[in-house]
Amino acid sequence: MNTTPTTHTSSIKYDRTTRDFSVTVDGALIGFAPSVLAGEAMARDFIASQIAHDTQCQAAEVAPTVAPTTTPITTAAIAAALSTARAKVADNARWMTALNKASLEIISTPWVWYGHTLKIKSRTASTVWYTVTATSCGCQAFAKGNACWHRAAFKLLSNAQAATPAAPVQPVRTSQADVDFLFN
Ligand SMILES: [Zn+2]
Repeated sequence: MNTTPTTHTSSIKYDRTTRDFSVTVDGALIGFAPSVLAGEAMARDFIASQIAHDTQCQAAEVAPTVAPTTTPITTAAIAAALSTARAKVADNARWMTALNKASLEIISTPWVWYGHTLKIKSRTASTVWYTVTATSCGCQAFAKGNACWHRAAFKLLSNAQAATPAAPVQPVRTSQADVDFLFN
């Protein structure tokens, strides 16, 4: 099989703002971890999944359907996305609760952002990682049709990624249509 080895570089750095460790692979922020060890494990998992994905694509000789994330997600972009999202769900108590929880958990719970998919660790089951997309979540709250903080976290990261680091913060809009657009 003709495969080209792919070299990935990762770095784990203490983040004074979030007081945990930012995990970067190939220059793109993939998540935060509570310790260096956890960060290294997160980077290893991410790189392994990328290599597995690359290998599958080479074997199948098809173009990748999921491109690895190339836009760095900065903590500033997450903060801006949070500010915008809070304004948008101001009159929706369930999503405001989910959003506020997401803003805290995104700092303390390990997660990995794949561009179209978020993998985030369960707070209650230490071996469980939920897969979150724009329309679904693997958690029980979602199965029951409830707002969950995982999907709020997905939206935050998705919107943070969409905003380039230098882009101005989007104007705040507060209509229900925007709430529906963001969270439904
Ligand atoms: Zn969920």
